[in-house]
Amino acid sequence: MLAAPAAGAEKLPALDEASVRTAAAASFPELLELLALPNDSIVPADIQRNAAWLEAAFGKRGFRTRLLENKGKPLVFAERSGNRPGRKTVLFYLHFDGQPVIPSQWSQKDPWRPVLKRRGADGKWSEVETTQLLQADFDPELRLFGRSTSDDKGPIVMFLAAFDLLASRKLEPAINVKVILDSEEEVNSPGIAAVVAANAGLLQADALVIHDGPSHSSGRPTLVFGNRGLVPVTLTVFGPRSPLHSGHYGNYVPNPAQRLAALLATMKDEEGRVTVAGYYDRTKLTAEDRTVLAEVPDDEAALRKRVGIAASEKVGATYQESLQYPSLNVRGLASAGVGEKAANIVPHQAVAEFDLRTTPEADAAHLVGLLKRHVEAQGYHLVDGEPTDEDRARYPKLARLRPGLAASAARQPYDSAVGRWASSVLENAFAASVGGTKPVRIRMMGGTVPTYEIVTPLHLPFVIVPLVNADNNQHTFDENLRMGNYLSGMRTILGLLRTPYPE
Ligand SMILES: [Zn+2]
Repeated sequence: MLAAPAAGAEKLPALDEASVRTAAAASFPELLELLALPNDSIVPADIQRNAAWLEAAFGKRGFRTRLLENKGKPLVFAERSGNRPGRKTVLFYLHFDGQPVIPSQWSQKDPWRPVLKRRGADGKWSEVETTQLLQADFDPELRLFGRSTSDDKGPIVMFLAAFDLLASRKLEPAINVKVILDSEEEVNSPGIAAVVAANAGLLQADALVIHDGPSHSSGRPTLVFGNRGLVPVTLTVFGPRSPLHSGHYGNYVPNPAQRLAALLATMKDEEGRVTVAGYYDRTKLTAEDRTVLAEVPDDEAALRKRVGIAASEKVGATYQESLQYPSLNVRGLASAGVGEKAANIVPHQAVAEFDLRTTPEADAAHLVGLLKRHVEAQGYHLVDGEPTDEDRARYPKLARLRPGLAASAARQPYDSAVGRWASSVLENAFAASVGGTKPVRIRMMGGTVPTYEIVTPLHLPFVIVPLVNADNNQHTFDENLRMGNYLSGMRTILGLLRTPYPE
């Protein structure tokens, strides 16, 4: 075995493009096999089949593996047998579960039978033989369509392929490698904190690297330094004991749907800023933060066009800035019925579902507390369960506000050891590509990954290194992976594996 290089990625013997392509092509049969295993987060049998497949695949590459018990939906832990004392250890996080699928929405027969497609001059995608991927000179603009191609099974097999390439060249990684493969990321990893607590010794490392989520839409290599958290909240406004005839009671019995609408209207201004007192007070952006946010090469006109809006909300001056603040998002509304279910009644209650995106400074308890005070300040009495007869007799305005299970936010300084290490790796890996020198830095991404639940008990610095194309349709139909991203993802992983982690 060759010794690990002493320092700096620039001293590494180059792994030429052809050998990366050869290793990628050799890994595609396994990628297709893994994608063909249904992986809905809420189906334990699916999760178990995927976990068994991953144990075998990592085992074949000289990893010792272990299933980490999680109420029938085990996570997979893998540790490289070649790990040795004296080298720094990096824990890699990826996840193998996926969002549920609605096959009728997809352009292919079965979202769990991946298909390869090429985009024609007219912009339309047409199917080609997957055997095209078995040749090392495959077209990087081909895309593989199927559930979890990008989120997050593609990156898992890129990771395996990177090890195959190292083995074929008899190269040792310059770091010790541990891997945790999450089984419930798509449902907010409810069990991960307990799993980490029960396996803290096993998971001990010097840093955490998360491979999940899309790269910046510019296609440039991307580093993400944090993620917002999330807390769901259900707000119920109570009306009469039961629905009432609107002819006999309209104009007399207060309507809870109307009242909920009025209450929601007090929570945001016309331009989308939250008007709940103190909601944004803990968000402080430094001059450096503003520079980092401004450097992100977003094309906001294209973004607005893509999502179909004429103007954005005014929480932040830019798209990136808007994601640095906590949010108050109505994710669902219900009262009585609409369409064929509409009836001439005064409804008995109205419900709003929210998801509040939290920040490290404004956590779930803080924001839910502010929201409760706001609702009370509008004259509502808040109950815990169902209103009692006494509550109904005493309080003209009754409501209930119930938070669900929260996932916390996490953020790192830009100059942490892991951030500098990953940044140097990306600069080296993409130095030769056009315009691709400095990685795009994202202060905090808007979505939620279970970073906090892993790094806090283990005291780990972390960085998120996304690998897949931004337009991958993750979480919805026609999810896809651009094969050029498979190659650049492998190069990124190889760079991380071959660059010593700083002392
Ligand atoms: Zn994901």
